Amino acid sequence: MLKSNSTRFAAALLAALASFVAGSTAAPPAAPQHHDQAPGFYRLKVGDLEVTALFDGTGVFDPHWLNGTKATMDGVQQALQGDPHVLDVADTGFLVNTGKQLILVDVGAGTWWGGGAFGRLAGSLRSAGYTPDEVNIVLVTHLHSDHVGGLTSPDGKRVFPQADVYVAKAESDFWLSPAIAAKAPKDAQPFFESAQAIAAPYIKAGKWHTFSGSEPIVDGMELVPLSGHTPGHTGYEFSSKGQKVLFWGDIVHALRVQLQRPEVTVVFDIDQTAAAATRHQLLTRLAREDVLIAGPHMNFPALGRLRKERSEYSWAPVVFTDQWDKQARSPQQ
Ligand SMILES: [Zn+2]
Repeated sequence: MLKSNSTRFAAALLAALASFVAGSTAAPPAAPQHHDQAPGFYRLKVGDLEVTALFDGTGVFDPHWLNGTKATMDGVQQALQGDPHVLDVADTGFLVNTGKQLILVDVGAGTWWGGGAFGRLAGSLRSAGYTPDEVNIVLVTHLHSDHVGGLTSPDGKRVFPQADVYVAKAESDFWLSPAIAAKAPKDAQPFFESAQAIAAPYIKAGKWHTFSGSEPIVDGMELVPLSGHTPGHTGYEFSSKGQKVLFWGDIVHALRVQLQRPEVTVVFDIDQTAAAATRHQLLTRLAREDVLIAGPHMNFPALGRLRKERSEYSWAPVVFTDQWDKQARSPQQ
């Protein structure tokens, strides 16, 4: 018995060892591919301000939405054949924590533009460590739904229940006017309908405010009228400790076209001539002053600076660093 037991034991031990050795040298099972990204926020400091870009989604700008000379548009089509990402755009909102107030500047599309590709802003806000009911103020550059859709849920509820919303009076008066909407062309109707539905719960709650001049809304923030795209299109420029950040709304949609050719407009510009003139003037100033730019449709994180070489501008995006309090310093400092 003893002998046969020990033989059996030795055989079992050998088998176990063999399977252990075989197991340790076999290739591990193939790792499945993952298709999700990290939480969509990016933070930096501008003086004492904490500025966080909040990802809402990405899309592709239709080349037919651009207005340029035939030569320019042929060039765009040619570029697209070589690189299908030439007209890729992001949709981004921005959070400014002043230390006293939590301020959003534009809030992405929510569910109001283009179906499922957008609407991640509230999740990005949470990933960044804040909740929607902590937001005190929302500043909107204009009332196109890709900038204000995130304000309101599909069933008409305020996503930011404590927030006071600010918009230029000319903007509010235009998009919220039933009389103007009634006379607008059919393909412009959705812009009026979405603006009215998105604004409605804030108006009802007494949280919808308009400005018509340079009224102080937030300490250290200046209103920058940027006429052309829409009747009250407005930028917001924050300054702190000698550093500046401008939230410029829709000054540029197609980064790789309109910086080389600032005269190229988009079909959504209500006043094409004014939109091109505003862009030209603003780009000149921003390249000279080295202001940090927050541009909702620039590639995420939608923050960067302008450089000018001869007659063309180029975009110097922020680069990832966890030294986020040093990121905002310009090279000269
Ligand atoms: Zn836009």
